[in-house]
Amino acid sequence: MFALSSTSCFSTTALSPALLENLTSLGYTTMTDIQAQTLPLILAGKDVIGQGKTGSGKTAAFSLGLLHNLNVKRFRVQAVVVCPTRELADQVAVEIRKLARAIHNIKVLALCGGAPMGPQIGSLEHGAHIVVGTPGRIEEHLRKGRLNLDEVNTFVLDEADRMLEMGFEESLSCIIEHLPTARQNLLFSATYPTKIEQLAQHVMVSPEKIVVEATH
Ligand code: ADP
Ligand code: MG
Repeated sequence: MFALSSTSCFSTTALSPALLENLTSLGYTTMTDIQAQTLPLILAGKDVIGQGKTGSGKTAAFSLGLLHNLNVKRFRVQAVVVCPTRELADQVAVEIRKLARAIHNIKVLALCGGAPMGPQIGSLEHGAHIVVGTPGRIEEHLRKGRLNLDEVNTFVLDEADRMLEMGFEESLSCIIEHLPTARQNLLFSATYPTKIEQLAQHVMVSPEKIVVEATH
């Protein structure tokens, strides 16, 4: 289980009182190791690479980061999270909605391959603050001019190793080309092969790399 110490409480971070209160109501009091090591850097605006095994709590680390950067009054896409599969993207969207319960009227849109196009096109016309999806489908919406990423301040690559294994490089390049240059980049991965290092060099600016070894 997670080690308990005063320095690993979410309340020691720069998160807003509303987000902290919601974390407490969700039963999230202590940060996991990867959260304790990455969240302060993320909230300080740094580009961060987080490597840690499945179940280590990476989703909340980047989700709290993008929620920290978000201005809900501005109804434009401000964060993009890319995931390798529809199931993972849906799980991330659910987790973000949970963590964002304290923020009223926040719109999180899932754009996944395999899901029907019609509802996604309708939702895009209406707008969103956060987009979570798979690389191919996000690319498709970008190429058709249905998705504008000009106001994105946080870009997240989740399970980056799996995305490269699945051959999503070109879609990722297309997405990156549509992002503003001034943005925060967060990359999470269970492993860190050379290809990920190359991707990180391409996407990120002086990233801090945090590796959390498996604990028993
Ligand atoms: P990963 O992406 O690293 O594989 P997840 O982000 O999916 O792991 O987290 C695994 C589980 O742990 C999720 O069910 C999540 O709700 C829970 N969790 C994450 N952070 C905390 C925390 N600080 N306290 C309690 N539960 C947490
Ligand atoms: Mg994950």
